[in-house]
Amino acid sequence: MSLVDQLDTVTDASAGTVDRHATTQTFSSTNPASDAVVGVFPVHDADAVQETVERARPAAEQWAALGFDGRRERLAAYRGYLARRMNELAELVHRENGKPHGDAILEITLAIDHLAWAGAHARKTLGQRRVRAGMLAANHAAYLEYQPLGVVGVIGPWNYPVFTPMGSIAYALAAGNAVVFKPSEYTPAVGAWLAAAWRAAVPDAADAFQVVTGFGETGAALCRARVGKLAFTGSAPTGKKVMAACAETLTPVLMELGGKDAMIVDDDADVVAAADAAVWGSMSNAGQTCIGIERVYATSAVYDRFVAEVTAQLRTLRPGSDDEATYGPMTMASQGGIVRRHVEDATGAGGRVVRGDADPSLFPNENYLAPTVLLDVPESSSAIREETFGPTLTITKVRDAEEALALTNATSYGLAGSVFAKSKARGMDLARRMRSGMTSVNSVLTFASIPALPFGGVGDSGFGRIHGEDGLKEFTRAKAITRQRVALPVNLMSFGRPASATDALARVMGMIHGRHR
Ligand code: NDP
Repeated sequence: MSLVDQLDTVTDASAGTVDRHATTQTFSSTNPASDAVVGVFPVHDADAVQETVERARPAAEQWAALGFDGRRERLAAYRGYLARRMNELAELVHRENGKPHGDAILEITLAIDHLAWAGAHARKTLGQRRVRAGMLAANHAAYLEYQPLGVVGVIGPWNYPVFTPMGSIAYALAAGNAVVFKPSEYTPAVGAWLAAAWRAAVPDAADAFQVVTGFGETGAALCRARVGKLAFTGSAPTGKKVMAACAETLTPVLMELGGKDAMIVDDDADVVAAADAAVWGSMSNAGQTCIGIERVYATSAVYDRFVAEVTAQLRTLRPGSDDEATYGPMTMASQGGIVRRHVEDATGAGGRVVRGDADPSLFPNENYLAPTVLLDVPESSSAIREETFGPTLTITKVRDAEEALALTNATSYGLAGSVFAKSKARGMDLARRMRSGMTSVNSVLTFASIPALPFGGVGDSGFGRIHGEDGLKEFTRAKAITRQRVALPVNLMSFGRPASATDALARVMGMIHGRHR
């Protein structure tokens, strides 16, 4: 069977893509566990991307005209569809991304929860409301509302191919926009499945959510297609290219980029819980998590116990593709090379390596990496400074939590992080001073599962927010309206005002504000 023929074997998934230009160029996505082809997809060129965006424009107007209730109803139908077919989608995520079925279920669950929250909170967050007009315009009524941008372009990564793009897609749709989504070339089947599911669940607004597939050029074409906003999730270097392309058309951008997140383990921390969280936070999804824990700074009071506990837990981990495996292969084969380089750098600089009991000779192929902990790695090494994105964790002994915080913050990234401390005041204080968009105290990654909380980074981790009220507002423009209720005898904003009016105004302002020193 040819690759193009095999497209038919994933018709459910491919039905959501725009295939008018599919006749010439195609590409295939493969299962990282076996290299088997998962699906074949069109490479959409600039014309095809533009055509898709143009088709989305009237769809955006119709979608916006449905109002908050109409959209909420349809978003509910979509999440109902996803929930009923959760196992089917999880199986596809498992095949294309490599993560265990259970982790895929968890990812889809989070995405569904965000869809529910976005649909339910759009009116309250974005709907028209009256604000105080203030003294100078007391005879006017003042209104604020958040209007949709039209068509939003979403470019997503492969590591959480459902949860991550849905953080933009759900909130952009709930805010009244249409969406054109370009999934990663490593997970196009999942992206196409999501769009096909939309068409099936919301047939009367089918073009409000479409997918285009291809490589970086397809994404770049979406940047240049004059969308209302481009929401990008991916690495910082690609983010810079996306911003440059969007600058050509003054298209605003949302940047959700990489991280080098740290965990601080303080003197009074529950060491067993901290170790459990550090191992999950660093090794789940084979470490391919933007908000994964890559560094731990443990105080000297707990360091030995913490390392012993992490080492014990590491023994229980085994990468694989079977039902018992704790995590899967690297989705992108080239990432394995980066992870190996970081481990070699660290050991070359005097770092010690602790590996689990998993026997690499039994791994099915070289996409599987052993769980690896690096101890006492110099702060200058790549395992500390660069995003590793693999099943590795550095653990560094520090004098106290203040030193841990200083080292945590000494990075150009600032996505998320974690603090383990028994004292509530201490934990909250460290969390607030951590230079990151999100921090969990006494757990890891929890903020991602709370739809009301905004998600996004600082520094090289990007800007803008998905999730929560900020995530809804991110896909809108604020609109201000005033309405004169009664006319005043003297209109200050008229050439007809008498000179005495501004003299009186100056006296009043002097009385109200002049007393402040
Ligand atoms: P990349 O930056 O390589 O790619 C991201 C997306 O951009 C892909 O769809 C890619 O397409 C596309 N792309 C590539 N080149 C261009 C271009 N010139 N113009 C427009 N689009 C382009 O990231 P990965 O997919 O490797 O994802 C991993 C990264 O994502 C990590 O750094 C991770 O930390 C970060 N991430 C951040 C998250 C956050 O919320 N902050 C969440 C999840 C991941 P193609 O794949 O076809 O090349």
